[in-house]
Amino acid sequence: MTAEGLPQLLVGEIGESFHFAPAFPDDRTRPTLKVQDGCNARCAFCVIPRVRGRSRSLAPEKVIEQIHDLAQSGYQEIVLCGINLGSYAKDLDRRLTLRGLLERILAETSIARVRLSSIEVMDVSSELIRLVAREPRLAEHFHIPLQSGCDRILRLMNRRYWAAQYAERLRAIHEQIPHCGIGADVMVGFPGETDEDHRANLRFIESLPFTYLHVFPYSARPGTPAAARPGQLNGRVIRERGQEIRRLMAQKRQAFLADQINRTLSVLTLADTFAEARLALSSNYLKVALPFSALPANVLLEVCVGRVENETLYAYPELQNRSPESPSVPGSTTSSS
Ligand code: SF4
Repeated sequence: MTAEGLPQLLVGEIGESFHFAPAFPDDRTRPTLKVQDGCNARCAFCVIPRVRGRSRSLAPEKVIEQIHDLAQSGYQEIVLCGINLGSYAKDLDRRLTLRGLLERILAETSIARVRLSSIEVMDVSSELIRLVAREPRLAEHFHIPLQSGCDRILRLMNRRYWAAQYAERLRAIHEQIPHCGIGADVMVGFPGETDEDHRANLRFIESLPFTYLHVFPYSARPGTPAAARPGQLNGRVIRERGQEIRRLMAQKRQAFLADQINRTLSVLTLADTFAEARLALSSNYLKVALPFSALPANVLLEVCVGRVENETLYAYPELQNRSPESPSVPGSTTSSS
């Protein structure tokens, strides 16, 4: 047990060493379970393979055991994570896959929701998409690093896909899970990135159903091939390009949020409250404010979205019988902003 009385969580048994960490240091309602470490790829900007070594996975039995324990302790949602999560189990047995692990978790534990953290696009198989689409216990959420939507830059980065392949996977997700939360990391200002490459990146992002992006500036990591490349860009250019992508994404996100109005979302209440409201996180990775701060954390419930304001959805529990005397949600008229 930790000092706060929370269960001690084994967050990874990687290689020879066990790594214990206090459970849920940053978010007590959604424990993160690390099932994989290391990476066999060689992206030109990244030091991780050098620092963390080759891909290693936690045995499926250990994963099941830990999730079982977490579910028994009352947790509703767990997040599976890894440095390169999609390569899960390839070091153990080529017949095992991340999808197979998910199927086992669903069959052998009672955990109410499982969310995947970041996964590379080559590992987003049609079978995985179908599984997420049909299984309500899997969060409707994919985070798929993009880095760039320009093929020339992807090749310089030594990424292992073409922009068209990435686009095809995202469209497949959107087709089968129309309200899926879809996010990506985008690296701005890779050495040699031209204005035209940046425009191609913007066009690519605009064309796809992203619901959020993590946009971050390239920064040279000593010892990487990218750090030795010519064409390092100055900070002002990188900043301006990043701002342009963020402005574009803000419009797309606003449209996605507005699309949620009058929809029913499955949410998990979080430890945080906000202006008399209990905050919750939806299956499709949206922050939702519920007008009942007395609602405890760690409750899964269905809510109906009333309005959106400042990137936050405001919603009522779906089964709540609202009488005229019921407490009102701040600004509960149905509108978007
Ligand atoms: S960026 Fe990701 S996929 Fe590429 S080498 Fe680093 S950890 Fe591996």
